[in-house]
Amino acid sequence: MPEREIRIYDDPILRMKARRVEDFGEHWLPLIEDMYITCVIDEGIGLAAPQIGESIQLLVVYIRRGEGEEPFKLAVFNPEILSAEGECTIEEGCLSIPGIREEVIRPEKIKLTYQDYQGETYQAEVDGLLARILQHEIDHLYGVLFIDYLPSVKKVLLKKALKKIAAGEPVE
Ligand SMILES: [Zn+2]
Repeated sequence: MPEREIRIYDDPILRMKARRVEDFGEHWLPLIEDMYITCVIDEGIGLAAPQIGESIQLLVVYIRRGEGEEPFKLAVFNPEILSAEGECTIEEGCLSIPGIREEVIRPEKIKLTYQDYQGETYQAEVDGLLARILQHEIDHLYGVLFIDYLPSVKKVLLKKALKKIAAGEPVE
């Protein structure tokens, strides 16, 4: 069960639309486990498959809870946002864009449909942190990064830092 290497900005796979999963089954479990482990080691709260080089519609959520409590884990295939409501500003970061955290405005509440590894379909209404993580990770499946939402003035300011990240240099 190895940790997977994270694809870093501006790897082209992060800008591709990931393909839908049609072949469900237990053969996905090792990849899902690798994604959870990658979240643990890299201290992420969510990860999309393209971030580890797999261009498929799969993401995981991994939220740590209190000591002695199991983390909240969720593996989501083929998610689709059906509706969105409200608006809130939350600071976001991304394992693929290390060292950068910025406030992003997104809907507060979403209704979505998705499938599990067995192809079972679910519908859920979520808000708060979970809604935020899901929106960020679903974006990854369409080649969208959180920095795309920043005002252009901010983007200009980040240009240098993004260049460093793309070159594999640390950003403070
Ligand atoms: Zn991300």
